[in-house]
Amino acid sequence: MAEKLPGVCIIGAGMCGNAAALKLVREGIPVTLIDRGSPIGSKNISGGILWGRELEEVLPRFWEEMPYERPITSKRISFLTDKSGFTLEFKNTEWRQPPHAGFAILRARVDKWLAEKVKQIAEETGAVGAKGSAKAALEDKAPEVKAITVKRTVVHPPPRVEE
Ligand SMILES: Cc1cc2nc3c(=O)[nH]c(=O)nc-3n(C[C@H](O)[C@H](O)[C@H](O)COP(=O)(O)OP(=O)(O)OC[C@H]3O[C@@H](n4cnc5c(N)ncnc54)[C@H](O)[C@@H]3O)c2cc1C
Repeated sequence: MAEKLPGVCIIGAGMCGNAAALKLVREGIPVTLIDRGSPIGSKNISGGILWGRELEEVLPRFWEEMPYERPITSKRISFLTDKSGFTLEFKNTEWRQPPHAGFAILRARVDKWLAEKVKQIAEETGAVGAKGSAKAALEDKAPEVKAITVKRTVVHPPPRVEE
């Protein structure tokens, strides 16, 4: 079945690109994952809060492996005027325990890890073709890529020899 399915090329290995890739490779569909950052995540230098466990839809029990900085254990909401303000804080002791309610993450670490999971699951399901970077495509490791644009210049992979 998987052999009859066409491969998919995903441009941008952020949260959405990686999530889409994970869904596809789980179905055995080959994915070529391309990002302008090499390694993946290297352009995404911010951190943030990953709230909730939606990621479980594509990565069950992800919190056991995902490289997060710390779990979120409380949430504050502040009401401010230009001169005054007050803050409400919500705490839940269960948030300290796995599976947690939210995670402080660094995108550079998590995006790279997600892309590695894409590759790992692709190998497990036989959805070969998942690659990590534009460099891989240009080095002819992703034969389905015909051309990519780098800084507004179209770059074609080198000619390939069919085996
Ligand atoms: C300052 C800021 C703070 C935020 N904080 C939070 C937060 O705390 N929690 C939260 O849930 N959301 C937060 N968000 C929102 C969240 O970042 C986005 O909703 C989410 O990243 C969107 O995912 P995406 O995959 O569509 O895009 P991105 O995560 O931006 O991924 C896009 C990917 O495409 C790559 N790319 C871009 N152009 C090209 C190209 N031409 N060729 C190849 N690759 C390319 C980039 O390198 C990147 O890896 C924040 C957003 C910002 C701007």
